[in-house]
Amino acid sequence: MAIVSLACAVAVAGGVYFAWRQYRRDSAQVGRQRAVTDQTFTWECDTGERFTAPGAYGSRTCDDGTHRADIVLRRTCPEHGPFECYVRYHQDAMGLSRLSEIRFAKGEWQPATDSIRCPICKRPAQVGDDIFSAGRPGAGK
Ligand SMILES: [Zn+2]
Ligand SMILES: [Zn+2]
Repeated sequence: MAIVSLACAVAVAGGVYFAWRQYRRDSAQVGRQRAVTDQTFTWECDTGERFTAPGAYGSRTCDDGTHRADIVLRRTCPEHGPFECYVRYHQDAMGLSRLSEIRFAKGEWQPATDSIRCPICKRPAQVGDDIFSAGRPGAGK
């Protein structure tokens, strides 16, 4: 009888370990999304003008070619609500798109980890709507 319950305990522990490993693997892949160049983002240029365009690595210029523009993302903190941040991506050695830098409001660019965290409490934030319809030129507010 004792042998049976020991076997059960081992089986349960193995199951928990497997689930944990699976969870770890899934969370490690969050930052390894499909290529940013295959997605459309809202961009904001230095003058505050927003436009919708395909993703790119690093900065790009806005349509008139004179201002530097960066991708704007919307995220939500469970406690502090929605916020926006500016990000730049790079392509890693595996060819995957990774966050490289992040900036909140008009603050300094900071090195980014794969998960975007709330600037106030540093908790991982939930994904928001990254393509803002209001960001299209001429769409109004
Ligand atoms: Zn511009
Ligand atoms: Zn927060």
